[in-house]
Amino acid sequence: MSEQQPESVVRAWRDVVATARRSAADGLVVGTSGNVSARVGDLVLVTPSGVPYDRLGPGDAVGVDLAGRPVLGELKPTSELPLHLAVYGETGAAAVVHTHAVHATAVSTLVTEVPLVHYAAALLGGPVRTAAYARYGTPELADAMLAALRGRTGCLLANHGTVTYGATLDQAYERTAQLEWLCRLWLTASALPGRTPSLLSEAQLAEVTEALKGYGQPG
Ligand code: 13P
Ligand code: ZN
Repeated sequence: MSEQQPESVVRAWRDVVATARRSAADGLVVGTSGNVSARVGDLVLVTPSGVPYDRLGPGDAVGVDLAGRPVLGELKPTSELPLHLAVYGETGAAAVVHTHAVHATAVSTLVTEVPLVHYAAALLGGPVRTAAYARYGTPELADAMLAALRGRTGCLLANHGTVTYGATLDQAYERTAQLEWLCRLWLTASALPGRTPSLLSEAQLAEVTEALKGYGQPG
């Protein structure tokens, strides 16, 4: 990235790369699977397609406008550009994280909605849906994802992985980590032969959603 980039863009690119590396280090992706983006005004910084995250440096920033036209960098953007741009087009998100986290992807092959085994679903806006399968990188996948995201901040992609978004990269990443944990929990609880996990009701989840508004430290 040239020296002329505004500080906000330099910082956002550094955070995109750090988040992508973290997803690999935490085992949420293997190799060049998954992708990360962040929005700075009308610029969307995205990980390049098929480049190992540990090879990305400050000079490798890839930026597109909200219509997907290249405006920054030499590398080809992620193949999931339609998916990232669809989120920015439909929500106020400033960051999007896509992974192939193993438990979440396993669950995406089993259910159209993640069973409500834990109140962590409230962190994603409610019961997490699975978007219908479409080939990676297609506008059809982006459309299916938008339908599954309605009223939520994350969803599963059938036989593929996860998508979450947030106001910051940290928030989007945290949602992915919680979603993967929730899916691992359901798989674990479902694994006992002859036993079925008890589930929370929508009313119990709504109560948690209310309580979470006062969660953590004041201010
Ligand atoms: P990219 O390397 O093009 O980002 O693709 C990875 C991926 O997860 C596609 O769904
Ligand atoms: Zn993928």
